[in-house]
Amino acid sequence: MKPKYIVLDRDGVINVDLFDYVLDTKAFKFEEGSFEALVELGKNNFEIVVATNQKCINLGLISSEGIKAINDYWVNIVTKEGVKIKSVEVCPHKDEENCDCRKPKTGLLKNAEKKHGISLKDCYFVGDKLSDIECAFTHGCKPILVETGYGTRSVAERGSSENLIIEKNLREAVKKIIRES
Ligand SMILES: [Mg+2]
Ligand SMILES: [Zn+2]
Repeated sequence: MKPKYIVLDRDGVINVDLFDYVLDTKAFKFEEGSFEALVELGKNNFEIVVATNQKCINLGLISSEGIKAINDYWVNIVTKEGVKIKSVEVCPHKDEENCDCRKPKTGLLKNAEKKHGISLKDCYFVGDKLSDIECAFTHGCKPILVETGYGTRSVAERGSSENLIIEKNLREAVKKIIRES
């Protein structure tokens, strides 16, 4: 069977957004139901690309190795359950650096596509911020906004839910995606 791909934001989707930076593994807590959702994606032959903005790196709060250690920590846990994390794409830049990868820019998705020789167009992209939604639309992915993390704030900020699929959390988003795939 050919793998299917899905893009996930990390903070506020996979793990609880602390409204602060996750700077060590102790601060990494799975969102309610997200672990089960990842396992369900694995069982249904989805391979996951994580696209995450981590300007804490270039703010000097943590090294890129430190961020990698945190990602290795949770990726190891879920990989043991058959979850396939294709890659974790990290943007280390601050807003004013004007890079091509900080979401809503699409560089993280392009990096993953190039690295793995895959296309993420038409894939679902689950995020909690408007920058995730905009990135998804620009790249040609199908965005789903979750209400965890910044999600409810994002809906309020957007002022409307037009053209937007909104789900309670990653668990519910994945249920919908699997129903429709
Ligand atoms: Mg987020
Ligand atoms: Zn960047």
